[in-house]
Amino acid sequence: MTPRVLDPGALPLPGAAHGEIDAAAVRLKRRSMAVLRRSLHIRTVDTGSCGACESEIRLLSSPYYDFHRLGLFFTPTPRHADCLLVTGPGCRAMDHALLSAYEAMPAPKVVVAVGACPLGGVFGADRYTRGEITDVVPVDVVVPGCPPSPLALIHGLLLALDRIEERITLQEGEQ
Ligand code: SF4
Repeated sequence: MTPRVLDPGALPLPGAAHGEIDAAAVRLKRRSMAVLRRSLHIRTVDTGSCGACESEIRLLSSPYYDFHRLGLFFTPTPRHADCLLVTGPGCRAMDHALLSAYEAMPAPKVVVAVGACPLGGVFGADRYTRGEITDVVPVDVVVPGCPPSPLALIHGLLLALDRIEERITLQEGEQ
């Protein structure tokens, strides 16, 4: 499936009012319950980021965004994850860890590339770095930015839930 690329121009400007963040977050909770009938569980893999994308992801758990009130969780085990958030330019030393995490996730699973790095937007390929992660895992959703804001991440997760819903519908059609 072709990756869906979040359009940052469609988002409120950085420094969005808390009401806009709340509205997007509540929508995410509703979509999670409608598609999965439970919370969305997320595993992150850093393939050599500068740390800024990771910082933005961590902010989702801060009291300001208060991700947990929505029943959305980061999980340390890929076996419990619906969604894989990948940062960094695909350092070759991370190939095995990235692929292992992806393979351990149960279907229907979805991969979200966070920031410009995972699709080659910052570093090129060389003997240490792939420059992009698509040779290792398929990417379903792209959240552009360097780094993307937490609000952009929430909208990227909404796209991820759309992709999971499509997969569930396909599976049901095949049964
Ligand atoms: S996209 Fe930008 S902020 Fe994110 S890891 Fe790459 S260089 Fe850092």
